[in-house]
Amino acid sequence: MAEKIGKIIKVAGPLVIAEHMSGSRMFDVVRVSDHHLVGEIIELRGDTASIQVYEETGGIGVGEPVYLTGAPLSVELGPGLITSIFDGTQRPLDFIKEKTGDFITRGIDVPSLSRDKKWHFVPIVKIGDKVVEGDIIGTVKETEIVEHKILIPPGVSGTIEKIDEGNFTIEENVCILKDNDGKTKELTMMQKWPVRVPRPYKKKIKPTIPLITGQRILDTFVPVAKGGTSCVPGPFGSGKTVIQHQLAKWCDAEIIVYVGCGERGNEMTDVLTEFPELIDPESGRPLMERTVLIANTSNMPVAAREASVYTGITIAEYFRDMGYSVALMADSTSRWAEAMREISGRLEEMPGEEGYPAYLGRRIAEFYERSGFVETLGSDKREGALSVIGAVSPPGGDLSDPVVQSTLRVVRVFWSLKAELAYQRHFPAISWLESYTLYQDNLDQWYEKNLGEEFIEQRNYAMALLQKEAELQEIVRLVGAESLPENDRLTLEVAKSIREDYLQQHAFHDADTYCPIDKQRLMLDLILSFEPEAKRALDANVQFDKIAYLPELELIARAKYLPSEQVKDEFPKIKEKVKLAIDKLIEEVQNR
Ligand code: ADP
Repeated sequence: MAEKIGKIIKVAGPLVIAEHMSGSRMFDVVRVSDHHLVGEIIELRGDTASIQVYEETGGIGVGEPVYLTGAPLSVELGPGLITSIFDGTQRPLDFIKEKTGDFITRGIDVPSLSRDKKWHFVPIVKIGDKVVEGDIIGTVKETEIVEHKILIPPGVSGTIEKIDEGNFTIEENVCILKDNDGKTKELTMMQKWPVRVPRPYKKKIKPTIPLITGQRILDTFVPVAKGGTSCVPGPFGSGKTVIQHQLAKWCDAEIIVYVGCGERGNEMTDVLTEFPELIDPESGRPLMERTVLIANTSNMPVAAREASVYTGITIAEYFRDMGYSVALMADSTSRWAEAMREISGRLEEMPGEEGYPAYLGRRIAEFYERSGFVETLGSDKREGALSVIGAVSPPGGDLSDPVVQSTLRVVRVFWSLKAELAYQRHFPAISWLESYTLYQDNLDQWYEKNLGEEFIEQRNYAMALLQKEAELQEIVRLVGAESLPENDRLTLEVAKSIREDYLQQHAFHDADTYCPIDKQRLMLDLILSFEPEAKRALDANVQFDKIAYLPELELIARAKYLPSEQVKDEFPKIKEKVKLAIDKLIEEVQNR
């Protein structure tokens, strides 16, 4: 156990000040009082340390001891991460619950990863092979869909002296190396890594592949790249959590790390109860088999949120290092920033904007900079991606909020949630005019190759129509739609169809919750195919209202609810029906 060195001189909420702390270092983990609460040194002045404590400090008093562990806040990385639910300092919640019931007992010492479970290790290197940091020495089938790659830790290299297939716990040796100085080194399947230090990689590569989310507005108009960053700010109730859940469920990353700093206590409960039941449409397997959850429930102290984003991103980097595409969702980063503000206030630091610490922007930037599409360590030229999507919940939805502003300075995609849209029940309530992506140029080649040039043209055309609609609406407000020329009325009609039939997507409808990219292409094509048909009718002097009220338009509106496997057969039929209906309208005019 840790050595006793310090003595508490002050307790202020999550902040504990202790003296006689010489020998300790910044960011070392300490155990506070005989309850052994987990804390981290965040300021050192002489031999007085300020300690951020990740557990409730109620009942802890002056004079009690502080124990030093001599190690920074670290996570355990190895088989057993996937499907786990951890708290902010990587304590396994399900395990704790089993041991202590619903309320977490303070100071509880449980390993993050099971020490008893045996994993079947299959080597992929052999005796005599030379290996360097980041090389894969073997694999473990962690779940049906995730193969856990056992990596040579950063800073280690040598020649394999012994390696065996077999069943091992994460603490047993699976491999013996002889390093270049002739020293032997035993390797287990577990690595430890300090959470505040980004894990190393060889180099960053320009991201050129979209993270497909199955959400039409995102994939078609404002995509994020694999390895990219995105931010979802929005007022309370605008759909941030639903979006984050949708991404966690459906995006095509191989590994999901979901960090929940719930606004409301029951929000994480939703995740905890709902996620384990979801099935991946591609593999037919439970989605939890690719997911790690980090949960801060509302009965956990704020400081734990600070740790949880770092715990989450370190786990995400570790899977990136295996060569996977990983997506991390953090909901909401405002809660993390508030924890920073609270601690900074208690430290009596000079406050910046809105009382947030002056280093808020730097911390946020450092966090998002841990994303990327990278060439990993290792000799096999492996590529991995870590995409980071952060929700921000500014008070009143005000985008001038310092957390929003600091985030927008670093992320490359902005999904703007609007209270007005949520109020009209236009979901996802993402503004198509305000949102942007800076990856478009990087990604268009992928879209062209996979969906064809026509898709890009149609996407651009649809966006142009939506922009035209916004301009026309100004006029409509002044003089009414009836006084517009028929061509403009048609533009409004098609734009409305894009909004309602395409952009609106029902997260809780079985067929609509996830829209495969090919269905998106065909839907956009179907919706836009109405315009030339309608023009044909207008040119033949058919009244605009007759076109706009064609019952066949309902078929287009309901196209999104068709199961994807029927789309290829059904969409041409819908187009044909619309065409016939238009023919009929023209015929009526001609026969008059
Ligand atoms: P926030 O996290 O921004 O406070 P939520 O994500 O909890 O907001 O969303 C609020 C409500 O909006 C949800 O409970 C749901 O009823 C509705 N909603 C949001 N997005 C969608 C969607 N895509 N489809 C259907 N309903 C949605």
